[in-house]
Amino acid sequence: MFDLTGRTALITGAGSGIGAAIATALHGAGAAVVLSGRNAANLDAVASGLARARTTTADLAQPGAADALMTQAGRVDILVNNAGLTRDGLAVRMGDDAWAEVLAVDLTAPFALARAAARGMMKARWGRIINITSVVAKTGNAGQANYCAAKAGVEGWSRALAAELAPRGVTVNCIAPGFIVTAMTEALGEGQREALAARIPAGRLGAPEDIAGAAVFLASDAASYITGHTLHVNGGMAMG
Ligand code: NAD
Repeated sequence: MFDLTGRTALITGAGSGIGAAIATALHGAGAAVVLSGRNAANLDAVASGLARARTTTADLAQPGAADALMTQAGRVDILVNNAGLTRDGLAVRMGDDAWAEVLAVDLTAPFALARAAARGMMKARWGRIINITSVVAKTGNAGQANYCAAKAGVEGWSRALAAELAPRGVTVNCIAPGFIVTAMTEALGEGQREALAARIPAGRLGAPEDIAGAAVFLASDAASYITGHTLHVNGGMAMG
């Protein structure tokens, strides 16, 4: 039911953190994996431990990069839109460039990749599009107006695309992580991380593997009747 043998997955931002864990877990479930990111050395380090892996670099901030990446990747049964970045600042002081860059990478590029991947998936009458959003898409967060807008936007287009693709056996879902220990959260100080953990009912920040398990589930045949959903993986910090 969870076996992904014969499937090919493209994972963006796969050289580190959550993306590396998802790629490793999908591979562990039997999939061949195409690892994409900006840093070739990081991608090679993740791929070196995997038998059915290849790598390709792409800077998703560049116009046209998403379509070029899909051409490079070839057949994709499972697309994991994981690459993302933050450029935090209070809204009243946020520059147009910080707004535009976060929307380009976190909202527009995932849509362009999903649109390109959907064509082959529709023909194959099977596909999985999994978008990594964030708990802050729902809760909001001071200093992250651009990031909250992008992640909430992804959840919006995911529901529209889910409705369009469901008749063709293609599901579109989001995973909204809470606070996960990666480069993105290492920027926080030790004190801030402890304060955060105290607000999480599970009593700890998450690990990338906590998100990877959810991705394997949504990619599998076990989740074939789940679409347009946002799965919150956050140790209970935001429910409902
Ligand atoms: P990370 O910084 O390790 O991973 C982000 C990845 O995105 C990196 O591999 C980076 O190279 C890639 N990336 C950034 N800009 C890119 C660009 N222009 N082109 C191509 N790739 C680019 O951090 P992470 O925590 O593993 O983040 C993975 C995803 O999880 C992101 O979408 C992030 O928003 C989301 N997320 C993380 C947390 C958390 O607490 N860590 C919480 C909620 C959501």
